Amino acid sequence: MSKAATLEKPAADKAKKPKLRIATTSLSGCFGCHTSFLDIDERILQLVEIAEFDRSPITDIKHCGPCDIGIIEGGVCNAENVHVLREFRANCKTLIAIGACAINGGLPALRNHLDVTDCLTRVYCDRAGGKNHTVPNDPELPLLLEKVHPINEVVRIDYFVPGCPPSGDAIWKFLTDLITGRMPRLDHELLRFD
Ligand code: SF4
Repeated sequence: MSKAATLEKPAADKAKKPKLRIATTSLSGCFGCHTSFLDIDERILQLVEIAEFDRSPITDIKHCGPCDIGIIEGGVCNAENVHVLREFRANCKTLIAIGACAINGGLPALRNHLDVTDCLTRVYCDRAGGKNHTVPNDPELPLLLEKVHPINEVVRIDYFVPGCPPSGDAIWKFLTDLITGRMPRLDHELLRFD
């Protein structure tokens, strides 16, 4: 595991600077990219020295507030995804698409060549094996879009980290570059396109 990059800062710096705020969310994703994020393992202790989490699966914050960095996993498959993504864009100075689903729709986009109504009927009615089964239509359920979209088709994205998922080392290298003011750059061995 590559641990060369570090976020250590001088003590005086830590005392003066407010912590960075980071938000993360999963739209139409499987949480695999978030799991990969946690693969930074004990390096997360360095991260929380200088940063705190806003909306994220590891907090109970429901809406993204003003943040320095927003990290988005997953593509856009429903109306709620659009709302959450726009909220992140409005509040995050830098927005990062992490993983294949956010970058090109990924696995969920495999449904793009199918008709959504046919899919729902097949799953909830035909396969359920009875005439009395219906497609769920509770108003609380987010409305599905006809297609699954990469997130950059909805809002402007500053950076893209490829992979399904990118490794914890790749995420760490990317974040340490960004936070310490270097141009984020992943060497060949950290780049993953599957
Ligand atoms: S890119 Fe892969 S790991 Fe990440 S959310 Fe999509 S399917 Fe899951």
